[in-house]
Amino acid sequence: MSNTSRPETSSGAPSPTARPNHFIEDIIEADNASLKWGAWGTTHPDRADTPKVHTRFPPEPNGYLHIGHAKSILLNFSLARKYHGKFNLRFDDTNPAKEEREYVDSITRDVLWLGAEYLSPPTGGGLFFASNYFEQMYAFAEELVLKGKAYVCQLSADEVAKRRGAPGVPATSPHRDRPADESLRLLREMRDGTHPDGAMTLRAKIDLASPNFNLRDPVLYRISHQHHHNTADRWCIYPMYDWAHGFEDSIEGITHSICTLEFENHRPLYDWFIDAVNDGRPPEKKIHHPQQIEFAKLRPTYTIMSKRNLLKMVESGVVHGWDDPRMPTLSGLRRRGFTPQAIRAFCEDIGVTKVESSIDLARLENAVRDHLNRVAPRRMAVLRPLRVVIENYPDDRTESFDCINNPEDPAAGSRPVPFARELFIEHDDFSPNPPKGYFRLAPGQEVRLRWAYFIRATRFDTNPDGSVSTVYATYDPDTRGGDAPPNPDGSPGRKVKGTIHWVSARHALDATVRLIDRLFTAEAPGERTGNYTDDLNPDSLITLHGCKLEPDLANARVRPNAENGCTVGDRVQFERLGYFCVDQDSTPSTPVFNRTISLKDSWAKAAAKSPQR
Ligand code: ATP
Ligand code: MG
Repeated sequence: MSNTSRPETSSGAPSPTARPNHFIEDIIEADNASLKWGAWGTTHPDRADTPKVHTRFPPEPNGYLHIGHAKSILLNFSLARKYHGKFNLRFDDTNPAKEEREYVDSITRDVLWLGAEYLSPPTGGGLFFASNYFEQMYAFAEELVLKGKAYVCQLSADEVAKRRGAPGVPATSPHRDRPADESLRLLREMRDGTHPDGAMTLRAKIDLASPNFNLRDPVLYRISHQHHHNTADRWCIYPMYDWAHGFEDSIEGITHSICTLEFENHRPLYDWFIDAVNDGRPPEKKIHHPQQIEFAKLRPTYTIMSKRNLLKMVESGVVHGWDDPRMPTLSGLRRRGFTPQAIRAFCEDIGVTKVESSIDLARLENAVRDHLNRVAPRRMAVLRPLRVVIENYPDDRTESFDCINNPEDPAAGSRPVPFARELFIEHDDFSPNPPKGYFRLAPGQEVRLRWAYFIRATRFDTNPDGSVSTVYATYDPDTRGGDAPPNPDGSPGRKVKGTIHWVSARHALDATVRLIDRLFTAEAPGERTGNYTDDLNPDSLITLHGCKLEPDLANARVRPNAENGCTVGDRVQFERLGYFCVDQDSTPSTPVFNRTISLKDSWAKAAAKSPQR
């Protein structure tokens, strides 16, 4: 059965990445076979007989999303798509202290950018806010109090912590056996704002001796006189995560409530709360009881993912904001030039398991390299320019070479690139004293200029500090297009071993280029010293001014996307250098480019040489 429902490529052919089911797909297919959740029926006449699969992504709007969240978003979304179900985006906005509208806006943008469609058919289940269910959740709380399953406890937070017990030692509360009507009165006073923060809490009456601490009469509501981004000042009590989460899923008709492994020992609580509401209700009044399923978090190497620490880096200025291109946030990755296709391919590649393990960051980097290799047009850019004068090339002449945009994509066409007597090449593509095996430009040595001619260096000038300032060269007019003509006897013409890129000095655009690299030099930042800032990579951002670009790059832009609200810079490959994209700081007079990723994995080479890296 599973093979018939494989995701398909746009050509309609079976996906080349066809793989065995992961454990959540196995669970869903078993549920579908038994019609555990029923079929869509009249709610969706177009899929009336299709078994119901309804997933959601439930972020708390207390920070920007990161690459780990992408795994969860794409997992939930792709299950909905694969099984012709629905996918919701729901803000778990139950703790006003840390939540802000700015985060809500950034999250909706990021989810749409990834392509996880939560609004439109066929997958769109809708956009929801947990805070819109506060009234309903509160009604459930009163119901539990009346059933003797919850009580108001007047111990302070410190006291509760102290009396939480130890393994095998039961916790205590003097208010556990308070009559229901007294708890109900106090709960209403809590809601009405009669009491200050911390004066009392509503707790579930479960089992103070449970070996699972989560079940030792957890708090359901706390008093917090805080303004909420959605409900303003209507509430001064707020539900705890465990109490709220299952009801949010239940109200939305979620079937498979997928979360990360740290919630495994909260699952008994998830089930207990819904069962407690259903206890004693007639069948037609029972609320929907979704199934919680846990999977292992994504933990890439060379990265930190805790929102708390990401926020600290933003606030302390270690990075320049949540969307700093070095951040593992989706907005940072987007600004750096990562594509949603690459992130989707990466998440598909790493799979879904129940085993915690770290994932080599190189796999994400390779995914973007692969995708950009296929789609990014090639351009020439010189990052550390060195002037070259071709002395036998007329000063008043300009030629145009027709350069192929992308050898991987014939449909990408070609563009004209101007050539003239004065060029820029990379500083390290010339060596006054070439070491053995140096095949680039050197005195007396010939090299191919990409797309253009062979040139031979004749002499050079130096700066007062001894560095090379100008190289003089001659070109061979017979090598136009980049190859020497055949010899008179018909044998192939002479070869050169090196090809270098160049930009015509007269036509070049000046640009700023930011060389972005991993933010940390350690696989597990902070593991060595306990402080992740000790492992910051001092070279994670190198800014080069006065870089020289071929003139076609004047057309490169940052483009707003009206559909997802994101701004994305055009992406290109600078030949021999890597993949780059236009940054939002660009101006028409000074374009700014970020390096998304180098052409090859320099870290793998470095790691082979030195185990430290
Ligand atoms: P916190 O709860 O500390 O604020 P969080 O990263 O868990 O941080 P949430 O907004 O609660 O933030 O996360 C939303 C969803 O994303 C949750 O379902 C969570 O399990 C999932 N998620 C978070 N981090 C990862 C990760 N590294 N890999 C996969 N899923 C993740
Ligand atoms: Mg969380």
